[in-house]
Amino acid sequence: MGVILGHRKFKTGTVDSTLEYNIEKTTAFHGHLCPGTVIGTRMGLVGMREIGITDPTGSQRKDMMVFIETDRCPVDAISIVTGCRISRKNLKFLDWGKVAATFVNLKSGKAIRILCPDSSKDHINKYVKGEYSNDKDGKTAREVAAYKIMPENEIFIIQEVKVDLPVNDKEKFKVKCEVCGETVNNHREIVKDGKIMCKSCGEGKSYYYAG
Ligand SMILES: [Zn+2]
Ligand SMILES: [Zn+2]
Repeated sequence: MGVILGHRKFKTGTVDSTLEYNIEKTTAFHGHLCPGTVIGTRMGLVGMREIGITDPTGSQRKDMMVFIETDRCPVDAISIVTGCRISRKNLKFLDWGKVAATFVNLKSGKAIRILCPDSSKDHINKYVKGEYSNDKDGKTAREVAAYKIMPENEIFIIQEVKVDLPVNDKEKFKVKCEVCGETVNNHREIVKDGKIMCKSCGEGKSYYYAG
């Protein structure tokens, strides 16, 4: 008896070797093996498969962009699997508190958003057998084991989307904020009341205040 996981077919209870190999890499970077690492690793692999990226760190290293909506464990795994980084301008971090990411093929324009819904937790017991302790470590091990083999349609909601890509990301450009005088690079300024401003001054909210 087998389950279909993406385009591959393998026996229930076994873990795809590609997934296992990537989980080793993502765990090494993240510092521990946790449910979020498994979810993020699978998200990265599924996202790349869906948009046709097979060589993310080689010939296609400039062909992909990923938008990540969580600041938790999956962000590390997605970054490692895809090779996308904030500094490479192909990882856009959105602090939206959702376990979701969107993968864009910059050449074909194909974009896929993958969400791990809360309901994925409801399926865990179908996929784990054996003894797991009731403490925190046991719970983590149970979830890790289940998320490795849970079919895609139970762990993810996958949707084709259209994405407004950031423009002028690579162009060197700088202006001075007319309010605080600080330099704003790469077209991150905004125009408000006819003045060029940084986001801190112009958006009417800031994450810091003068002490
Ligand atoms: Zn973690
Ligand atoms: Zn300013």
